[in-house]
Amino acid sequence: DFSKRIHANRSDELGQLAHSFNSLSTSLEKVEDKRREFLANVSHELRTPLSYMKGYAEAMEEGVIEQKKGLAIIQKESNRLERLVNDLLDLAQLEGDSYPIQREPIAFAQLISEVIESFELIVTQKDIRLVQNMDEESIIYGDRDRLEQVIRNLLDNAIRYTPANKQISIALTTDHGWSELIIADEGIGIPEKDLKAVKERFYRVNKARTRNSGGTGLGLAIVSQIINKHDGVFELYSKVGQGTSAKIRIKTI
Ligand code: ADP
Repeated sequence: DFSKRIHANRSDELGQLAHSFNSLSTSLEKVEDKRREFLANVSHELRTPLSYMKGYAEAMEEGVIEQKKGLAIIQKESNRLERLVNDLLDLAQLEGDSYPIQREPIAFAQLISEVIESFELIVTQKDIRLVQNMDEESIIYGDRDRLEQVIRNLLDNAIRYTPANKQISIALTTDHGWSELIIADEGIGIPEKDLKAVKERFYRVNKARTRNSGGTGLGLAIVSQIINKHDGVFELYSKVGQGTSAKIRIKTI
């Protein structure tokens, strides 16, 4: 219970102590609020695909819905549930100290190209142009799997929120001991008021729309955590209707 406050309107040491105690209580309350909000979000996010699956299984059993259609939805929702659980596990690991990142020298351009290749099919299907401009010499010291996840999440968003016939550019440069990756899309953009919050867990600009697009709302929170652990910088720039640029900076070797 953090609701206790010390009332001491004095300017001496006791007054200062009371003041410190009260502001500590306030920040603990905020942490507690965040934790509660997070748990509520997790429950909601897990329950939604589960209730779809339950509902469609029942409908199939009663014969009110075609098996093929029901199974397709159950499959889609179970995939979603799997993504959510995986993302939650990753976040829990990143936020705790039990799984430190495992650093090794990485040819950054090569890693990025490998991730891009895995998106080739969807990029072709969506008719999106990918333009690459990469400094092949850039060597960083980082966790390969985690950085792969960063690139994957950023590219996944760029593709997800960019309509057909538009372009995504991927640029890697090195300067003064830093490697800088910019993934810039010509998609729908993020309103200025949401720009900071989208890096928070489960924050979405448009809940209904992003649910349909299959996101978990955890992608950018994971990116933030991973880049933090690399003592790097992660920034987002965006203009509604024009596009979004995600920039990450990591020290080179
Ligand atoms: P999601 O899984 O919903 O994409 P993220 O954490 O990756 O979750 O992103 C949070 C929100 O930020 C998204 O729901 C979307 O509203 C917005 N967003 C992220 N990347 C982009 C982008 N490239 N263009 C437009 N909106 C974006």
